[in-house]
Amino acid sequence: MISKKNLIFLGAPGAGKGTGANGLLEREPLVHISTGDILRAEVKNGTELGKNAALLMEKGELVPDEIVAGMVKSRLGRHDCDNGFILDGFPRTIKQAELLEEVLKEINKEIDAVIYFDIEDDILLKRLTARISCKKCGRIYNKLFLPPKKENTCDDCNEDLFQRPDDSLETAKDRLEVFYESTQPLINYYRSKNILTSITEVERDDMVAALFKKLG
Ligand code: ADP
Ligand code: ZN
Repeated sequence: MISKKNLIFLGAPGAGKGTGANGLLEREPLVHISTGDILRAEVKNGTELGKNAALLMEKGELVPDEIVAGMVKSRLGRHDCDNGFILDGFPRTIKQAELLEEVLKEINKEIDAVIYFDIEDDILLKRLTARISCKKCGRIYNKLFLPPKKENTCDDCNEDLFQRPDDSLETAKDRLEVFYESTQPLINYYRSKNILTSITEVERDDMVAALFKKLG
């Protein structure tokens, strides 16, 4: 059992936030809140929000702060989050971090730890462009580093795997730039609150082990 349970996963696209979250969830009853996953579900369902978000996501740009913060607020307010949660890919701007603080205050919760996945750019790009995931369960694989047992098929549910359109090389580069410009300032923001801790492990199993150790 880990003692730090209200978590933020911070890191560039491809840094391993989703993979780390899945590793923790194998043993801990945390709620996984990925704003990227919520947005992709909105796009798939063709909602008004989804239609607007899709245009930005295709280009690798950020969806407006108020919109993502609103999504997180309604999710965090549900009682299953009382045992802990992983905010994966949120906040991504200082403004979002401030909106999150307001939400947390309203529901009487605090962030216990912010994990920064500190991975070099060349690895990030290689990973993003080789990333594939399961349509059904969302499990993430990588054609180069973490292939499924059977080609293009999910180990867990036998579904086809697909590449996200925004994982093309060009869009992946744009998303990295957005990370450095808008999200990187959060590292110092949380460091100054003394809740930031970094993970530099590249291999999945090492990374998951390091996560458990840090959240001890
Ligand atoms: P990754 O972490 O691999 O970049 P995500 O699945 O977290 O990908 O996000 C995919 C896209 O969804 C982003 O490029 C962005 O357009 C949108 N998005 C996700 N989370 C946020 C957020 N917190 N703020 C703004 N846009 C977001
Ligand atoms: Zn699956």
